[in-house]
Amino acid sequence: MVVGNWYAHGVTASKADHAAYIGTNLKAVYARIARAAALAGRPADEIGLVAVSKTFPAADVLAAYQAGQRAFGESYVQEAIAKIETLSGLTEPIEWHFIGPIQSNKTRAIAECFAWVHGVDRLKIAERLSQQRPTSLPPLQLCLQVNVSGESTKAGVIPEEAGALARLVVRLPNVRLRGLMCIPEPTEDVALQRLAFSRLRQLMREIDAQGIGLDTLSMGMTDDLDAAVAEGATLVRVGRAIFGERK
Ligand SMILES: *Cc1c(COP(=O)(O)O)cnc(C)c1O
Repeated sequence: MVVGNWYAHGVTASKADHAAYIGTNLKAVYARIARAAALAGRPADEIGLVAVSKTFPAADVLAAYQAGQRAFGESYVQEAIAKIETLSGLTEPIEWHFIGPIQSNKTRAIAECFAWVHGVDRLKIAERLSQQRPTSLPPLQLCLQVNVSGESTKAGVIPEEAGALARLVVRLPNVRLRGLMCIPEPTEDVALQRLAFSRLRQLMREIDAQGIGLDTLSMGMTDDLDAAVAEGATLVRVGRAIFGERK
């Protein structure tokens, strides 16, 4: 019994330490956003943070939630749904963002369980999400993923076609087009990071000028969020800086 108690005590202490670690990291990310916003002359409160919890357990999401975080991002449908169910009883509900690649056979689950979808790059996917969104829920909020670096990753609509896609998606009934999203090619060169993000900002301005009301630029992750905020990000998606390295 004594051994058992020692063991249980050890587990409890390390869980509390880990929750404190996540809380501290979360504060540091908000401070980083605030500093980048101040440097850009922007109010920090126009930049939202999606805490990317993919691969991390529900306990880690709960730790961030208890530190005040409400928006979380997930990339894998099965894994996400398990967490969404585990965490469904909270007094203030979590706002779940789907940020992964979208397969057509997963659109129903996504339409039923998430508030936002960031990676829409085809009309067919947007149509399915709209058809399958339960009308008892508010419209599903969408961002179109744009391939701003035009390289290796195939995901994302090419910039030249983003406007045409936006004009079609904006007409769908149970979704609400909010803006654009990108995952640029990783680089440590801050000037190159900014160039990619500035392309997305300019593209949003062009599409907006066609009378499609967009207000969201979903861009910036752990390694490039400062550049994204400098270029106008309104939602940054950050995982490792909050939860630690993924295995
Ligand atoms: C994993 C992921 C993130 C978070 O990346 P970090 O480097 O952990 O901050 C953001 N956006 C998308 C689309 C992702 O897949």
